[in-house]
Amino acid sequence: MTIKTDHVSLRIPLPPMQPIGANTARSEKLTAYLTRIALAMHVPAGRIVQHMMTGSAGQQYADAFGDRQRHDLANSHGVCADAWAEGLNKLTGRYDLDELTLLRWRPLFGKRSQLTTVGRRWCPRCLEEDLKARRVVYERLIWSIEPVKICPWHGCQLKTICHACGRIHRYELTVRQVPGFCSYCHAWLGNSTIRSEMRPNPNDAYDSFVARTFEELLDLSVEIDRLAGQFNYAKTLHNLLTKTGATQTSLSKMLELSVSTVSEWLTGSAVPSPRNTVNICYCFHISLTDFMTNRLTGCHSHALAELPPGASGTRKKGHHRRHLNWPDIKAYLDAINTHDAVEISVEAIARKFGVASTQIRFYFPEECRIASQICAKHRKMEQSKARAIHDTQLKAAVETEIWRLVRLGRPPIPKRIMQTMIEKRLATDKRGDRHIIAASCGQLLHQ
Ligand SMILES: [Zn+2]
Ligand SMILES: [Zn+2]
Repeated sequence: MTIKTDHVSLRIPLPPMQPIGANTARSEKLTAYLTRIALAMHVPAGRIVQHMMTGSAGQQYADAFGDRQRHDLANSHGVCADAWAEGLNKLTGRYDLDELTLLRWRPLFGKRSQLTTVGRRWCPRCLEEDLKARRVVYERLIWSIEPVKICPWHGCQLKTICHACGRIHRYELTVRQVPGFCSYCHAWLGNSTIRSEMRPNPNDAYDSFVARTFEELLDLSVEIDRLAGQFNYAKTLHNLLTKTGATQTSLSKMLELSVSTVSEWLTGSAVPSPRNTVNICYCFHISLTDFMTNRLTGCHSHALAELPPGASGTRKKGHHRRHLNWPDIKAYLDAINTHDAVEISVEAIARKFGVASTQIRFYFPEECRIASQICAKHRKMEQSKARAIHDTQLKAAVETEIWRLVRLGRPPIPKRIMQTMIEKRLATDKRGDRHIIAASCGQLLHQ
């Protein structure tokens, strides 16, 4: 956290707000819960984090609270998540906030390597649905699970890049984060018209398996304590090998690991990383839930499913380059140029394929020229759409504020209203916003 928020006063205890969707696949995540409280209290989310840092638990876990690169761990299953859940439980007077993390699955995923992504991700369609149904807008725990790349309900890719400003959300939590809005340009991140990817993706089967299996696992929250007690990794893995007739060698080959690593898992001297646990389940066509509950009746196939490139997480030297697929990139550019796919810039395309944009421009100069024009047009359209949403929200808020002031017997001076709107993060001191506020004041006062 770089911005100092000392000057903002914080009322403790925090309101014990009800978490949304706890113990289901649609559960809110702990960091998003914190931003919701911050929003309700009109303080920056960073102020609450700062309070936890300087509090008694903070001394012990200063790293967990202070380092923004580790804020994603708040939603995970390690000691950081313990610290965050305990800290927020104390501040709100609740006792159940660990339900908004992956802590319950610690027996399955271990304590050490974590399952969450460093950056913030979201499904634009889920957010839009919340807004349209007039529900509270909140961010789901499942979006933060690293192997989950698509929304289990909509099948669209989870987003990390804001459509309006094009910036990547590199951190799970920012000082002034508001659920559903970009931390940089404050644009609304929801979008119901987003189409699923047109490009046939080699990871499709894997991605939808992962999304589904985690959805099922999160839905199992309530029973998990009973089941976790009986779970024994080595034993389950051993049963799986016996049942399917697979060998240590074939499994290690499939997971791109050494045979000794697999045999260490079987003897119980090591536990697979969460990523490898997911991959084992995928290879054996079995869900994480069935794996954890030792229900192996469904799997009797000898053929292990092959992992798509990049899924094993081990990146050998030159490995990445070999899998670069120029025809795929060309097909995607063509899809953009025929309006079958949308993207905000050539740089975003390059990021998607893990290459430098200069390389793409070098190989396909003509396609890139057309694509960048189309992308610019799309970007402009998205920006004006975001602007329109922002303007309507601002107008409504200004109207409410004017009537509030009138009721209190205070003159609704545009300057004062501007100040309030800036404090509420609904406006910036720019000409467009000033104009809207002045116009609304004039209009209402002449009625
Ligand atoms: Zn969704
Ligand atoms: Zn943005």
